Amino acid sequence: MSDTQRVLPPTAPPSYTESQFSPAPSVPTHQLAQAQTPSEAPPPYTPPTNPPYAEASSGYQRFEPVVVNQVEVLSIVRLGPDPCQVKCPSCQQQGLTNISYRAGVLTFLTAVLCFLFCIVCTFLPFCVSDLQDVAHYCPYCGYHIGTYTRM
Ligand SMILES: [Zn+2]
Repeated sequence: MSDTQRVLPPTAPPSYTESQFSPAPSVPTHQLAQAQTPSEAPPPYTPPTNPPYAEASSGYQRFEPVVVNQVEVLSIVRLGPDPCQVKCPSCQQQGLTNISYRAGVLTFLTAVLCFLFCIVCTFLPFCVSDLQDVAHYCPYCGYHIGTYTRM
């Protein structure tokens, strides 16, 4: 038997305890990232201070709503047979109206009655101002304000 064929004593494998306490494998980088905690938390949220509002609210006084009537009340003047003191809706001037007489319903009715009794008196109502309507005009611009009718 030659030396080459001599069986070398087998090297003993590492014991169980040695294999268990082998150096730990390197920790993956992502685990390191998870382990790291932020050095410091962001500053807590502080609401903006608004002292002027508080002061204003303390001095605020509640008033009852006042309804202001913006609609201009048109002066409704009852026109009569005589000149009236009115405010012209056209030129906004105020003064006595100029009047003119017009034949109205009463004028024609009295004319018919006069025709039945006396033909000569037929046109008499057209000459009597008390039997005619009265038209009112503005003394400044001549605007026809209204007409007073007998009937
Ligand atoms: Zn006028």
